[in-house]
Amino acid sequence: MTFLTNKVVKTEETRLIAIVGLTGSGKSEVTHILEGLDFHKIRFGDVTDEYVKAHNKEVNEVNERWARESLRKEHGMAAYAVLNIPKIEKLISECKKVVIDGLYSWEEYKILKEKFPELFVISVQSAPSIRYSRLEKREIRPLNRQESSSRDKAEIENINKAGPIAMADLTILNEGSIDDLKHSIIDSLNGKKEKRLDWDDYFINITREVAKRATCDRGKCGSVIVKNKRIISTGYVGSPIGAPHCDEVGHLMSEVYDKDGNKSMHCIRTTHAEQNAIVQAARYGISVDGATIYTKMEPCHVCAKMIVNSGIKMVVADKMYHKAELSRQIFNDAGVELVVIDKEFVKYENQ
Ligand SMILES: [Zn+2]
Ligand SMILES: [Zn+2]
Repeated sequence: MTFLTNKVVKTEETRLIAIVGLTGSGKSEVTHILEGLDFHKIRFGDVTDEYVKAHNKEVNEVNERWARESLRKEHGMAAYAVLNIPKIEKLISECKKVVIDGLYSWEEYKILKEKFPELFVISVQSAPSIRYSRLEKREIRPLNRQESSSRDKAEIENINKAGPIAMADLTILNEGSIDDLKHSIIDSLNGKKEKRLDWDDYFINITREVAKRATCDRGKCGSVIVKNKRIISTGYVGSPIGAPHCDEVGHLMSEVYDKDGNKSMHCIRTTHAEQNAIVQAARYGISVDGATIYTKMEPCHVCAKMIVNSGIKMVVADKMYHKAELSRQIFNDAGVELVVIDKEFVKYENQ
């Protein structure tokens, strides 16, 4: 995740933002982040769905494309801007901050820019190969590579989508994880990049870098163990030395049922990040007694037990883990402090 410009968007000054980008670039994620910063979303695409339904057709890729093209035949190439202007004006008159998801054509851009000169355009970009693999894997309406490629061509050739992307006020290259995107955009929006990092942010940022060595993409965890503000050990989720990696041979999945019969799925090929950090310290004879462990999400119950018995006294997790109930109990019983920075659950496929 890299910013191609250093421009800092001040959300108190910027009240109307449009997100542009080709399908799969991460527009919805950026919009979602802005919604978390009190922006109200206007999804231009809602007009498509409304049109498809008004004609008693099923909402699918083919009918949506038909609707987009029909709307543009009826209202011109700026159809979506024209049809959404009243919604934008209403929200602005109510003193709300607005984010437009799905500004498409050059013609729409020109009409909106004329109507709202303060419009700030953020372009989200990723290479086609990255976007296509995201679109193949997405839960809602996945697209195969051929569909994605034909959609790209239609958007560039028929809808003139490239113009607003080229004219954006801020360009974001989004080729890392959603988490990278989220943290970087929040930093940019808050102007946080100019501030010195506090210790928790510093160590949590390092866990993200450590996690990039993970050999299993479920959770993709990294941990660092810290004593007196110094890193004494690091670990990432990975196969034992010499064993094959999930990325090469697939996961080794195991079904687990809780006392209420709820099933959860776990990959058991790997040693977890927290375990590897503790084990690495053991290997080099470094005591972790009294230390703090920084980690991507709340530890699982096995890691929790190891953390307690290794003498670690504090756990700082970036996010929540969906199966951490027992771990929280173990930490509570042992008097290990657990701090979760972002009260959001880490999501990955097939949990
Ligand atoms: Zn795995
Ligand atoms: Zn674990």
